Amino acid sequence: MTIHKTDLVVIGTGPAGLFSIFEAGMLKMKCHVIDALETIGGQCCALYPEKPIYDIPAHPKVLASELIELLEAQAAPFHPVYHLNQIVEKISKNVDGSFDVETSKNTKINCKVILIAAGCGAFGPNRPPLAGIEEFEGKSIFYAVRHKAEFLDKNVVIAGGGDSAVDWALSLAEIAKKLYVVHRRDKFRCAPESADKMKKLTDEGKIEMVIPFQLDGLEGTDGKLSAVLVKDFDGNVKKLEADYLLPFFGLAMELGPIANWGLNLSKNHIEVEASTMQTSQAGIYAIGDIATYKNKLKLILTGFAEAATACHDAYKIVYPNQVFHFEYSTSKGIS
Ligand SMILES: Cc1cc2nc3c(=O)[nH]c(=O)nc-3n(C[C@H](O)[C@H](O)[C@H](O)COP(=O)(O)OP(=O)(O)OC[C@H]3O[C@@H](n4cnc5c(N)ncnc54)[C@H](O)[C@@H]3O)c2cc1C
Repeated sequence: MTIHKTDLVVIGTGPAGLFSIFEAGMLKMKCHVIDALETIGGQCCALYPEKPIYDIPAHPKVLASELIELLEAQAAPFHPVYHLNQIVEKISKNVDGSFDVETSKNTKINCKVILIAAGCGAFGPNRPPLAGIEEFEGKSIFYAVRHKAEFLDKNVVIAGGGDSAVDWALSLAEIAKKLYVVHRRDKFRCAPESADKMKKLTDEGKIEMVIPFQLDGLEGTDGKLSAVLVKDFDGNVKKLEADYLLPFFGLAMELGPIANWGLNLSKNHIEVEASTMQTSQAGIYAIGDIATYKNKLKLILTGFAEAATACHDAYKIVYPNQVFHFEYSTSKGIS
């Protein structure tokens, strides 16, 4: 097994983790970055890549996927080493004060500081319990929309009653050949304006509501769907012609192995000292959605500031014999 050596290991490539690479880089600290998902971007890319975000400072409107591309580009000059598609399972402290971080793919990294930017933990979609669903997943069943254009002129079934189901119904109704929304009750958990818009599109015939129904089965071959079967509470089954099924039943969020790392936790979040973002263990920091303190705001912009705070505090661990001189990026530039 190769053992990598670095200054910081960042766990999580959501917006907070990606920005911490830049902040660390500006302080001359090198990073290895690990994520359980196949691609970087955390919730932004896994859950809402094509949605515009409106509350990133200086970006009146930016697509979630574009924000991640920009953060990746901002981090690139500092040459982070990414280890994707692997979960950090174990961290341990050595006698010299350094840490060893081990992943599910046997990657082992020795580092001086650990920065946990793990969002809501290792997360994945709640999958509907349909026989043979694995055959279709990633081919004609998706839990997030990555490329809206894929659904142009297609028969699409959206299942669920929350914000994601409604938002994507509104968005895809404009381009799909036929759009069904399957939900077990007449009420949706979404903004009232979105519910009004959905009703208007339904009246115009752009959306067909399939209520009160639940997903019951799949038809198709070689991963290509031809129909989705739905059933009502009396056992009546309907067959919906479908090229794609998009089940939006929320996320299964699990803190996963993080819960076993001996850190002080509060309701599945890691407690930190807000002035440094250090956890209950020296040398281990937590930032972004996973970190909690009084009046914490779970926003992307909060995660950015926390990344800066944590990296500045970590500097004294990485460079114990150097006096820190604060400098703006305008003075330092990107070396
Ligand atoms: C639909 C939706 C819309 C939103 N809109 C906005 C908005 O408009 N404005 C706003 O500010 N916020 C918004 N948010 C919230 C925002 O996305 C989160 O606050 C942000 O993504 C948190 O970033 P993060 O870097 O802390 O973690 P995340 O983005 O959650 O990334 C964490 C990463 O850590 C990885 N990970 C976890 N555990 C492990 C492990 N053990 N090993 C390896 N990897 C691990 C995960 O795979 C994940 O990729 C929205 C969220 C959703 C769901």
